[in-house]
Amino acid sequence: MAECKVCFRHCNIKEGERGFCGVRKVQDGVVTADNYGKITSLALDPIEKKPLRRFHPGSMILSAGSYGCNLRCPFCQNYEISWSEEAKRFESEAERISPEELADTAAYYRDRGNIGVAFTYNEPLVGYEFVRDTARLVHEKGMVNVLVTNGMADLSVLKEILPWIDAMNIDLKSFSGDFYRNLILGDLEMVKTFIAESVKGCHVEITTLIIPDENDSEEEMRRLSSWVAGLSPEIPLHISRFFPRFHMQDRNATDVKKIYRLAEIARESLQYVYTGNC
Ligand code: SF4
Repeated sequence: MAECKVCFRHCNIKEGERGFCGVRKVQDGVVTADNYGKITSLALDPIEKKPLRRFHPGSMILSAGSYGCNLRCPFCQNYEISWSEEAKRFESEAERISPEELADTAAYYRDRGNIGVAFTYNEPLVGYEFVRDTARLVHEKGMVNVLVTNGMADLSVLKEILPWIDAMNIDLKSFSGDFYRNLILGDLEMVKTFIAESVKGCHVEITTLIIPDENDSEEEMRRLSSWVAGLSPEIPLHISRFFPRFHMQDRNATDVKKIYRLAEIARESLQYVYTGNC
C-alpha cells in the first residue's frame, strides 16, 4: 500500500492497483504513472485552440494527449481518454513514445509553424513525470511548452514542472465549492492555489465553461472574475458555451446572450475576456 500525493484525493493504493485517475499505480511499493509516454492523440493545432489568445498568437503547437483524469465532469468532451473506466483500453492500445521522440517530432514540424509541445486532451498532471521529462528536452531545442490542465494538483507537482512550462490554460470550472465537490468530484481550493502559484512562474490563461443552472449566475461570475483580477487584471479569461454532452444531456446549450452578459461582467474587473463556442 502506498499513498499518492499528486492531487487532493491522496489515494491509498494497493500493490499492483491504480488510484482514482486510473493512471497512478503502485509497483514495488512506489507510486508511478502507468501512462508514461503513452500517447492517445497527437495533432498540430493552432495555439488559439488550446485556448491561448495572448501567447504567440497565430502559431501552431504540437498537441499530445495520453489517458486518465482525476475529475469526473459529467459533461466531459474527452471522456474516451479521460474517464478511467472508458480509458482502460488505452492501457494496452496506446502507442508509447519517449520524451526524446516527442521533442524531435516537435522540432520536425518547426517549418510548419510549430513552436513547441502542448500537453493536453486528458489531464496531463496525473502523469506529470512525462510532461517534466519531455518539456526539458523541448526547451533544449529552443521551443516552448504549454500545459492545458484542470489545476487539480499539489504544489509539489507544480514545482517539478514549472521551470519548463511557458504557458498554461487552467480550467476554473466554477467559483463554488459545491460545484467542484458534488458535480465534478474535485476541490475548488486546490485549483485556486494552483492558479495563484502558476501565475508567478509562467503565462496563464483561464477557462470557465458556463453550464445552464450550474454556474451561470451573474453573482458567481462577478466573484470569479474579481478573484482572478486580484491576482492580475491582465490574466485572460475564456468564457465558453456549454453543449449537451456525455452524461449531461438534460439541458440545452447555454444561451449565447448569457455568455455575452457574463463576459460583460467579467470585463468590469479583467482586461482580456474572450467568449468561446458562440
Ligand atoms: S493523481 Fe490519481 S492516484 Fe494520485 S491522488 Fe489523484 S486520483 Fe489518486
